[in-house]
Amino acid sequence: MADRFVLAIHGGAGVRPRADMTDEQERTCHAALSRVLAVGENVLSADGAALDAVTAAVAALEDEPLFNAGRGAVFTREGTHEMDAAIMDGRNRAAGAVAGISGVRNPVHLARAVMERTDHVMMIGDGALAIARDAGLAFEDDAYFFTQERWDSLQSTLQMEADGTLDDDPARRHGTVGAVALDRTGNLAAATSTGGMTAKRAGRVGDSPIIGAGTFADDATCAVSATGDGEAFIRLSVAHEIDARIRLAGQRMSEAARAVVTDELTAIGGSGGLICIARDGALAMPFNCDGMYRGFVRDGCAPETEIY
Ligand code: ASP
Repeated sequence: MADRFVLAIHGGAGVRPRADMTDEQERTCHAALSRVLAVGENVLSADGAALDAVTAAVAALEDEPLFNAGRGAVFTREGTHEMDAAIMDGRNRAAGAVAGISGVRNPVHLARAVMERTDHVMMIGDGALAIARDAGLAFEDDAYFFTQERWDSLQSTLQMEADGTLDDDPARRHGTVGAVALDRTGNLAAATSTGGMTAKRAGRVGDSPIIGAGTFADDATCAVSATGDGEAFIRLSVAHEIDARIRLAGQRMSEAARAVVTDELTAIGGSGGLICIARDGALAMPFNCDGMYRGFVRDGCAPETEIY
């Protein structure tokens, strides 16, 4: 096991504008990202698999009410929660995803159960929840998923819609969590989980659970987890586009990721960013908005977290 591991995480591109962020809020976000990095690092430093590291890191992000996934998921316009998640194993392109699910404490665990316990890649509705029960996953009631900040955000969004003053503040609209990892055996994996966009219509599915849009991993190229305007990421097949540029056009991952986020995403009016790790351990975390909660750790090095 000569190679070194790399882990990167994100807590979404929906950051508070710098001017509105207090020092204490900033410290709280950095501390949460550091806790999550430690969870994933513990897996990788014990020679664990990239797949297990991204599962553990995303589950930890889902448990943090600060981020829009799991416990901190945003509300639909009906005041409910509909969560999306996906996971992909770079060893064999095995993948699992769920969309529009409610009540499952850790949607990433359900995505992984779909990958490991069924012949399918993506599941929704009662069928997905049946897999969760079969797998013995934890369920939570509505109170667990209630956060005052998300509720207030829904109310203000609906009010702005009614008044015709809806802005495109990414801090209100965005959020998602994700992780990408390269383990010491050279395997890549990616996982992404989200509550979606505040005040989304019931039944709306974003890019996070769509393999090749918000989530992708292949040991031959890279692992990607995205965050931002889901519709734009779907239209551009963002994660697969980065893979294709590396595989077919011979681009370096950093150049492919920059071109897709800075040029292509911006050109269609999409906002957001992504984290990606290449097969050689290179790391890129481009975004075209104010910031993206993010962090990374390399084998033997101190972890780093950033927001803007
Ligand atoms: N990409 C997510 C979605 O569209 C939301 C986000 O990352 O802000 O559901």
